[in-house]
Amino acid sequence: MKTCKQCIMHSQIPYITINDEGLCSDCADFIAEQKKEHGLNLDNVQPKYTAKMESVFEKAKLQGRPYDALVLFSGGKDSTYLLYLASKKYGMRVLAFTMVYPTTKPQALENCNSVVTKLGIESMQIRPDEQMYRNYMGYSLVHGDKYGLDENAGCGSCSFIFRWYAMRVAMDFGIPVVLDGRDRAQFGGYLLKDGEELKQEMLSGNKPLEQLHDLFNDAMGEQYRNSIYGYNIEEIKTKHVPTVIAPFTFVDYDIESRSLQIIDELGLDRNKFLSIYTNCDGIYLFDYLMWHKFNCTTYHRSYAHGLRINLPTLSQLKTDRSQQNQEPELSREQIIQVLDEYKDALNYIVDNNITTKNVTPENKDALWQLMPLGIKVYGPQGISIFIERFLSVLEYADYFNLNLKDIVK
Ligand SMILES: [Zn+2]
Repeated sequence: MKTCKQCIMHSQIPYITINDEGLCSDCADFIAEQKKEHGLNLDNVQPKYTAKMESVFEKAKLQGRPYDALVLFSGGKDSTYLLYLASKKYGMRVLAFTMVYPTTKPQALENCNSVVTKLGIESMQIRPDEQMYRNYMGYSLVHGDKYGLDENAGCGSCSFIFRWYAMRVAMDFGIPVVLDGRDRAQFGGYLLKDGEELKQEMLSGNKPLEQLHDLFNDAMGEQYRNSIYGYNIEEIKTKHVPTVIAPFTFVDYDIESRSLQIIDELGLDRNKFLSIYTNCDGIYLFDYLMWHKFNCTTYHRSYAHGLRINLPTLSQLKTDRSQQNQEPELSREQIIQVLDEYKDALNYIVDNNITTKNVTPENKDALWQLMPLGIKVYGPQGISIFIERFLSVLEYADYFNLNLKDIVK
C-alpha cells in the first residue's frame, strides 16, 4: 500500500493511484485543475460562480412558480444556513425538503421543525417505507462494488433516496432550483449544474445519480419500477429539470462560523446543531465495512480534500463549541493517527461482540486506551460520546440484516 505524501489517500482506495512523485491521483487532478481553470487563484472562481448563481436565483424568482427553490434540509448546521441564505438573503420562496429516514437522529428532526418555524417557511418531510429502506441499504452495502461504488457506498446509496426524491418533487412542481448544502470537501469540486444541460444529459442516456439508479432497481425489483424511486425517461422528457447548486462548494461564506452564528441569531441552541448530534449513526457500520474493504473510511476523500483546501472536516466533530467558532483543521499526521485509532476501536467492538447493552466498564477502559490522540483532540466528553455511538455498529448490522463475520473475512 502506497500513501500520498500530501494527503491521506492511498493505493487501496478505489480509483486512486500514486504517481512517481508520491502524489495521489486526486492531488494531481486538483493541482492540474487549479492551474488550468483558475490560474491557481481561488479568488477568481468565487465571484464567477456567485454571479452565475445569483442570476439563476433572479430568473427563478421571475418565473412565478409555487416555489423558487427546493432546499435539501437535514437539520444540521450547514443546511440550516443554506435555508437562511435562500429565504432571507436572496428572498426566494423556498420549500425545505427533508427525508426522515428510520435512522435519522431525533435531534436532527427537532432542529428541522424549529428552524422552519423560526424562518417561517414551508417544509415537506418524507418518511420512506422502512422495509424498503432496510432491504435496499443491506443490498447496497454488500453489492455496492459491482456498481462501481467506492468507499462512500453507504452514505452514497442512502442519499440516493433523498436526492432523487427531491429531484422528482422539483420536476413535478416545476421548481427551478435545487439547493444542496454540501461543501467543497464533501463534494470534491464546484457544483452549479444548469437544468437545461442536465436534461440534455439525461436525454442522451446519462442518469443524474448514475449507477445508483441501477443499484436501486436491482435491489428492489419490478414492483418498485414505477415507484417515485424509479427512473422513467419518457416522463422526464415532458418535465422541466431544475438547476442544481451547492453554494458552499464555491462561495467562501466561512460556513463553519457563519452557520453557528445564524443559529444563534435565530435564538436556537448551537450545540444541538453540531454534526456529532445530527449525523446518522449508520456511518460507524459503513466505516467498519470500508476499513475492511478498502482500508479507509466512508469520508476519506472528504478528509483528504479538506486537508488540500484547508477546510475543517474532522475537527468539526468536536462537542464543545461554545467558545470558538472556527477550529483549525488537524494536520495530515494527526488525521492519519485519529483515523487509525478509530479503526482499532471499531475492530475491538466488533471482534468482542460489544453492544450498548452488554458493554462493561473494562470494555470502555480498553476503548479509551486505544484512542490517546482522540482524547486530546476531542476531549474526554467528546470521546465518551464517540464510544457510545461506535457501540451501535452491531445493532446497525442487525438492522440491515448483515452478518459481519460473513462479509468481513
Ligand atoms: Zn493526495
